[in-house]
Amino acid sequence: SIEDTYTLHNGVEMPIIGLGVYKVEEGDQMKDVLLSALEAGYRHIDTASFYGNEKGVGEAIKASGLPRESLFITTKVWNDDLGFEETLRAFDISLENLGLDYLDLYLIHWPIEGKYTEAWRAFEKLYDEGKVKAIGVSNFHQQHLEDIFAMCRVKPMVNQLEYHPYLAQTEMRAYCEYHDIKLEAWAPLNRGGVFEEPVIRELAEKYDKTPAQIILRWDVQNGVSTIPKSVNRSRIAENIDIFDFELSDEDMKRIDGLDRNQRIGKNPDNFSFDD
Ligand code: NAD
Repeated sequence: SIEDTYTLHNGVEMPIIGLGVYKVEEGDQMKDVLLSALEAGYRHIDTASFYGNEKGVGEAIKASGLPRESLFITTKVWNDDLGFEETLRAFDISLENLGLDYLDLYLIHWPIEGKYTEAWRAFEKLYDEGKVKAIGVSNFHQQHLEDIFAMCRVKPMVNQLEYHPYLAQTEMRAYCEYHDIKLEAWAPLNRGGVFEEPVIRELAEKYDKTPAQIILRWDVQNGVSTIPKSVNRSRIAENIDIFDFELSDEDMKRIDGLDRNQRIGKNPDNFSFDD
């Protein structure tokens, strides 16, 4: 297999590279994108109820003819559906949209104050019932995780955070590692906004790889799972073709040096969805 996996703290194997499908349109585009990805060796797909394309993901999976157990499918519960009963209901809808009878990973999309611990109780129930193989969170900082730790029976297995060379998440990475929570990178390519960095360009030349491959390889060597998005067949293939080279420690540090604590998304410490 050209793809490698991480083992989550409950023993579940998660493919390191996944395909993010934010803003991929249902129908022909989704089919084309997912079939390209599966052909290139991807087995991990990251969607969310918020993306409005779960049905499209389900149709493409069915069209691929691949056995269900060879795939790793993630979706996320949206802010409006956080709560015990609400989250259970939202899960059923997502599963039906996807046309699946279980999910590999279910995430709380954002830590909406006062809402996420009840949602976590629903997650634990779904996990106990075997309807989801692993449960986790997204955009959770330390204080949010501490709230979960204070009430949970099952610790989150994954925390999906914005993560790229301009936002290296040094503290959260150490914190998650300490608690055996796998960090997963969203917007790993900073939506294209880091390819022009001289360091990245220089390393691309040195290793005979593309800037995207250098950045995604940095994720992997930092123990981070990563879900780059593209709708372009050759870029999709390029983004998973990163298991045949290794960045030196020194070059890893040069990329670390690009960190400027700069986000493209909301800051989990201080966000609202009212704007
Ligand atoms: P990304 O960093 O993956 O950037 C995607 C863009 O980079 C593409 O649209 C394309 O323009 C460019 N690109 C991709 N591969 C390239 C290549 N090889 N060469 C040149 N350009 C290339 O940004 P993203 O889509 O925001 O993030 C990835 C995934 O993360 C999403 O699709 C979604 O699944 C997830 N996500 C999660 C959250 C969350 O709150 N949990 C938020 C945003 C995104």
